[in-house]
Amino acid sequence: DSSSRRRPMLKQERSELPFVLKKMAQGMPDYITMDRALIADLAEVAKDEALLQGVLMRIQEASNSSELVTYAPFTLFPTPVPKAVFLQALAVQTHYNTLVDRISQDPDFLQEALASTIEVDDFTARLFRIHQQILKEGRAQSIVLGLNRSDYMLDQAKDGSVSLKQVEINTIAASFGGLSSRTADVHRHVLKVAGKLEESRRILDNDPASGLARAVAKAWELYGSHRAAVMFLVEESQRNIFDQRYIESHLWKRNIPTIRKRFDNVSKTGSLDQDKKLFVDGREVAVVYFRNGYMPQNYVSEQTWDARLLMERSVAVKCPDISTHLAGTKKVQQVLARPGVLERFFPDQPGVVEQIRATFAGPLHSRHEGDKTVAMALAAPDQFVLKPQREGGGNNIYGAEICRVLQAAEGSSERTAYILMDKIQPAAVQNYLLRRDGPLEISNCLSELGVFGTYVRHGKDMVMNECAGHLLRTKSSEHSDGGVAAGVAVLDNPLLV
Ligand code: ADP
Ligand code: MG
Ligand code: MG
Repeated sequence: DSSSRRRPMLKQERSELPFVLKKMAQGMPDYITMDRALIADLAEVAKDEALLQGVLMRIQEASNSSELVTYAPFTLFPTPVPKAVFLQALAVQTHYNTLVDRISQDPDFLQEALASTIEVDDFTARLFRIHQQILKEGRAQSIVLGLNRSDYMLDQAKDGSVSLKQVEINTIAASFGGLSSRTADVHRHVLKVAGKLEESRRILDNDPASGLARAVAKAWELYGSHRAAVMFLVEESQRNIFDQRYIESHLWKRNIPTIRKRFDNVSKTGSLDQDKKLFVDGREVAVVYFRNGYMPQNYVSEQTWDARLLMERSVAVKCPDISTHLAGTKKVQQVLARPGVLERFFPDQPGVVEQIRATFAGPLHSRHEGDKTVAMALAAPDQFVLKPQREGGGNNIYGAEICRVLQAAEGSSERTAYILMDKIQPAAVQNYLLRRDGPLEISNCLSELGVFGTYVRHGKDMVMNECAGHLLRTKSSEHSDGGVAAGVAVLDNPLLV
């Protein structure tokens, strides 16, 4: 019965834990050796602590009500991450911020980089049309707010050495900065209950929520109207609302009003006054923070596109503006990996170029680099990932499917809709993934490290450029793709080794 399952651990049972955790600290967890009853006890402790700490999500069946909430899925144990690569990821973040911002201000580069893609990808083409219209009219607002998340996996070479490789950078709607601000305490608690005080100290403090809010607050202050609000442009289904609420809370603490609106609200009640000030439901908007609008399905009608254009044309600060949104496309990521391209953005900073380039995963290819790369992918599809210009997880193509798609697009420009990327091969680590109604079973897991970057530019001056914290997401190695929101990955913490 449940009372026996939930009894506290006995002292001798606890003594089995250090062995397991010591192996984990060496980068080789061996949970198999751990007694199942202990794991079950620890999982209950972990879930309760997640609830206590506010690592929350609405349930799938009631995504627009907070009457029924549960813990956001997370790992039972933190995952070992080598300190050197972790610090490398933090150190390069402000340079990535600068890079994204400079790309967004380089219309010629964006035009050239995206030219072939917009011929075959309608979604990117529509975004690009808005970008062009804004350029033609002239940008109404010189304050720019960037909240990015650069994602990495740790590629493991045959000799066991590990290197930091970028999966992608997200310049729009990068999530989990809120919830990841609360997960460190959950894993610390789990480790303490497991008798591992020393390990618990190796989980770093992490507070992206306050860092993200600090940047939003800066942009709002520069906008300079106390009554104007920060508008969170949110999705229809708001399961992950708590992640955003953390940022809202921080803003309200600074007496900055926030409102939550959907595209539909902007369509129906949005307008610009003669100074291009944006009003929604009668409220002046200082900052539009897009937590929606990153995938085609978000644009359900022409009215939705009109709403996006209205916001872009306004004097409200956009996070991101349309050009920064485009700077985060996978096509741009691929073009950046070509020789000489990073130098364009950092002409006098070879050290910065080197630091960024060190994080690029292998060569990234497109149809333009010739048939040789396609032939390589056809010969060894398991070494590659084929990526369309999409966000939100679950869109990439792997293995034999790569051959099918490439062959179907043979000789056609359709291939330019994709980028071909070397597959990063991280070492699998065993862990338990805790999710509502999920079985408690050991899984071989792969992790992805995200680093949050924030910046505010006012005209030519970067008035803020920071690394705001990190996120570790872990998924079963059975799944090659898919994020937390997609129900595949779960929240985790790095345990520095
Ligand atoms: P999205 O914008 O949809 O999140 P990503 O580029 O992050 O697109 O790809 C989604 C997922 O696919 C990643 O979270 C990762 O698990 C996997 N993935 C993407 N690129 C690679 C790669 N080069 N090597 C290995 N896995 C990858
Ligand atoms: Mg993405
Ligand atoms: Mg991603």
